[in-house]
Amino acid sequence: SLKAGIVGLPNVGKSTLFNAVVENGKAQAANYPFCTIEPNVGIVGVPDPRLHVLSDLSKSQRAVPASIEFVDIAGLVKGASQGEGLGNKFLSHIREVDSILQVVRCFEDNDVVHVNGKVDPKSDIDVINLELVFSDMDQIEKRMERLKKGKAKESQSKVKEEAEKSALDRIQQALLDGKPARSVPLTDLEKDAVRHLCLLTMKPIIYVANVAESDVSAAEDNPHVKEVMNLASGLQSGIVTVSAQVESEVTELRPEERTEYLKSLGVNESGLGNLIRATYDLLGLRTYFTTGEKETKAWTILTGMTAPQAAGVIHSDFEKGFIRAETVAYDDFVAARSFAAAREKGLVSRSLTFSLPIFAYKWGS
Ligand code: GDP
Repeated sequence: SLKAGIVGLPNVGKSTLFNAVVENGKAQAANYPFCTIEPNVGIVGVPDPRLHVLSDLSKSQRAVPASIEFVDIAGLVKGASQGEGLGNKFLSHIREVDSILQVVRCFEDNDVVHVNGKVDPKSDIDVINLELVFSDMDQIEKRMERLKKGKAKESQSKVKEEAEKSALDRIQQALLDGKPARSVPLTDLEKDAVRHLCLLTMKPIIYVANVAESDVSAAEDNPHVKEVMNLASGLQSGIVTVSAQVESEVTELRPEERTEYLKSLGVNESGLGNLIRATYDLLGLRTYFTTGEKETKAWTILTGMTAPQAAGVIHSDFEKGFIRAETVAYDDFVAARSFAAAREKGLVSRSLTFSLPIFAYKWGS
């Protein structure tokens, strides 16, 4: 499944948040598949009310949501990109994830030491950004050197090599200006040509503003959060506010006590669902559903995939032997209440490409 790496300076609440995600996953295990692969890796289901609506309509025996793998990547500190040992190891872990969640401390607590002596989201974000930028610069310099010497892999075509050079030139310039690689507009060919470098600043990033218990009901009023919002928009990134402390306390309560506790803090629901959804959306992921008596299942596709490619997510044979996809938009399906009824009303389309993001469907044979 797709991986999201949790990073941040020490003592900002990373492990508290990760543990809350994991505990919540365990508690939801009856509804959502969940497992911890390693101590710092957990797979959680993506909450989606549509799944249960479809499952009820079809009287499915089970409902299977889409999932995301969360990885707690501790140890990213100032100077990591210069370090030979541990620093590089953390950066290589980040290289493997599809998106980055940076926890930014927005809570004041004199009992919890801050690495810089005070809560300062801008500085926290700058420090981590700089490490990612340095690491990418290093990577690009080495690659350019190889390209110059003609030592790049022969398997690459001349056209692709030119595309790579042109893209790297522009990315390097952006990095020198302190801007992330993802801020550089690239053609599809250029994107493809630089993909093998797994540049860290190319990955989508979400800032997770970790606020105090007392701030969860009106997090946007917190000046630190405001600052993170401003910075995020300048860095082509998303922001989610959450209180790691609250989330970790919620997981310790019995389900019937949770709503009461959240209400006492002035909120209606736990922030974890929000965080998981935002991560999913940020990755440019889309869901389509299959639904029937046996199961209703959410399948994850990337924006822009064709129907055969989307079918291939279920089984590669479906892509190879693709004939057609019969699809119906979610709202139409729910209004019609069954596939047959939707077909009678002319709401089912047969297509070779997906033009709408969300479907309940049946594969033609
Ligand atoms: P990490 O080093 O980033 O993984 O940080 P931890 O999750 O270990 O948290 C460091 C300390 O901050 C712990 O003592 C947590 O209990 C505390 N902490 C984490 N989140 C919050 C929060 O939202 N509010 C308060 N007051 N303390 C928090």
